[in-house]
Order: sequence, then C-alpha cells, then structure tokens
Amino acid sequence: MRISQRAVSLHPSATLAITATARRLRAEGIDVINFGSGEPDFDTPDHVKDVAIQAIQEGFTRYTATGGIDELKDAVALKLKRDSGLSYTKGQILISCGGKHSLYNVFQALLDPGDEVIIPAPYWVSFPEMVKLSGGRPVFAQAVEAQGFRIHRGLIEPLLSPRTKILLLNTPCNPTGAALSRDELEGLAALARERGLWIVSDETYEALVYNGHRHLSVAALGEDAYARTMLVSSMSKAYAMPGWRIGYAAGAAEVIKAMEGLQSQMTSNPTSIAQRAAAAALAGPQEATRRMRDEFDRRRHTIVERLNAMPGVRCLNPQGAFYVFPNVSGLYGRRAGSGPAITSSSACASYLLEAARIAVVPGIEFGSDAHIRLSYACSMALIEQGMDRMAAAVAALR
Ligand code: PLP
Repeated sequence: MRISQRAVSLHPSATLAITATARRLRAEGIDVINFGSGEPDFDTPDHVKDVAIQAIQEGFTRYTATGGIDELKDAVALKLKRDSGLSYTKGQILISCGGKHSLYNVFQALLDPGDEVIIPAPYWVSFPEMVKLSGGRPVFAQAVEAQGFRIHRGLIEPLLSPRTKILLLNTPCNPTGAALSRDELEGLAALARERGLWIVSDETYEALVYNGHRHLSVAALGEDAYARTMLVSSMSKAYAMPGWRIGYAAGAAEVIKAMEGLQSQMTSNPTSIAQRAAAAALAGPQEATRRMRDEFDRRRHTIVERLNAMPGVRCLNPQGAFYVFPNVSGLYGRRAGSGPAITSSSACASYLLEAARIAVVPGIEFGSDAHIRLSYACSMALIEQGMDRMAAAVAALR
C-alpha cells in the first residue's frame, strides 16, 4: 500500500510547521517567542464578530451557493471599487475558504501539465507547491536584494518561454515586504500583454503598506491588464480573520466559473457564518484595519532598527505586509562555543530556537538561503524581548 507521488513529493508549509513547533514548545512550558507566524496578533473586530453571532442565532447555518453569498460578493465588489477603482460583477467574483484556496483554484483552472508559471523569488512558501499540485512548472525570477527585491520587466522577460502561461505577482510581498510601484507594474502588464500571459495578482497584504506607499492593483492599469488579471485577496490579514477562512478572487467570468466548478467538487461553499462576517468587515467601518496598520508600522521601525544593530545581520525596510527578511549570511561560518558552525538559513533558525528561544522561518523556504523571515505580528514587548535574546545569541557567535 502506497500513498501517491503527488502527496510524497509535496513540501508541507514550513511557516505552519514552525508555528506548530513554537506552540508545542510553549505547551511544554518552554518560553519561546514566535516570530514564525503569518497571522495578526489582533482579535477580529467586535462588530464583525457580532454579525457572525447573529447569523448563528438566525439559523444561517445551511449550505450557501458554492461561490459565495450575494451579500459578500456585493461587499467584495464595493471594496474593490472603493480601494482600487475596479468594477466587477457578481459573476466575476468567487468566495473561497481563504486566499490560499482561491489561489489553488486559479492554478487548477488555468494550468495544463507542463505550463510554466513565473514566480518572483523570494516567494511565499505555498506558491511553488500550489503550481506543482496543479501540474504546472514554477520558474523562479530571482529579485536582487541590493535593488530592494524589486520585481520588474527586465527580471521576468529572459525567463519567458512558449510554455509560460502565468505571471504571478504578490504585492506587497511576503516575505520581502517589497510593494511594487506604478512604473514596475506598468512594465509587467505590458510584458504580459505582448506575450499573452495571465497575471495572477495576490494582494493579500494590500491594506498593510507604509512610508506613504499607496497600494496599486495591476488590474487597475487599463482594460487589457484588467482582462488578463485574476486578483486574489484575503480577509485573514487586513481584518484579523485568519481562522474564519475567507478569501476571494475577482477576474474574467469564464475563469471564475471554472474555479467555482472545481470548488463545487472540493469544498462546496465557504462557511456560511464566516461569509456574513466577512461582508460586514469589507463593507463596514475600516477603522480597525487602519489602527492595526499603524501599530504594525511602529513595530516595523523597531524590529528593523534592532536587527540592523546586530553585527552580521542586514535588514531592508519593508514597505508592506508584516514581515522582515534580514540577510544573515554574515553569520555563516561562525559558531557558539563548541557548537556546529552556522552554514545555512536552517542552521541559523535552529540556533536561534535553541540559543535565543525565538522561532523564525529559514529563508530557504522562500527561495533564499541567505535570509530568515521574522513576522512582526506580535506585541512590541515581545519584539523587544525577542530582539534582546537574538542580539545576545548573535553576540555569542565567534
Ligand atoms: N498569499 C500570501 C502571500 C500569504 O502570505 C497568505 C497567508 O499567509 C495567503 C495568500 C493566504 O492567506 P489565507 O489563506 O489565510 O487567506
């Protein structure tokens, strides 16, 4: 009896694994600070919770339409119009069980075996695996740290082949925090037009941008970009709703229909109650999101400053999301006492877990072995404490 090649060759999510390890250690009484997690430490806003409670009490507990309730599709349409100036009909919107599910649906709907997807690197851990699960081939476009991990036409063009089907964009980017400019997006949209590519635009972190950056969706760059972009976003980060599992996709009606068909055989509808809550979050007051953004911004300043003060560590200032992606290769070759030398991002993460009791994710999981990823979606007090511990552990290396 054997399990499938597909399951055997899958690389499980490292970020979820690190969070599980941190949780386990804490349950064993070990004081670990978790910088591995990709979820806000804030609670879902009360007015959103109240709507969900009311939905339960009203008995809104049956199956809904597979692709989501009209009320939530309307709220998504309103949000995309309000924040990005984009117009979508309900037939162009699909509600899924998280942004991850929408992304998986879109790859399943667009890819045939051997089709290539350009994935800018460093990348979110799930992109390559989702592409491979859908029969596609990830082709990595390595962004340059010295240029702020920018993604631009010149980086992508040499990698295109007759099999290239999708250009994947993730702005602001997990893990680098790079948020693309209008110029960069225009260059990429022009390239997609010239080469007849789909654009899958993951805008999960759109609400979390700093330094006066304004998020711009590639779909808003004109008729052609609009037609070839499948936009994906999520309730998890902007509304502190990761456990509710609601995300959505917007784009060409024929693709949305195909995605809905796939969803009808995989999960049916996303949770009815969570859909009502998501509609309230998108269409209601946006104050809680702004407050969270401002707090993330304060933490961002602190963590970047603290990391850059550590000899051998170099950290860019992210423009969006809630991650820092410091380069730790300056520590490679060093060791603490008679311990093993740090030679990789995994060894660095293991050392930090052991010596500093902080959980971070090795950069290799995101396509760069010179980096580690830390999330600053934890309190300022924990950031200060974690940075004190990391600084001491780094200082102990010779
Ligand atoms: N896209 C990116 C870049 C992410 O980092 C995440 C979550 O970490 C998601 C999509 C999916 O989030 P969810 O499935 O919780 O909506």
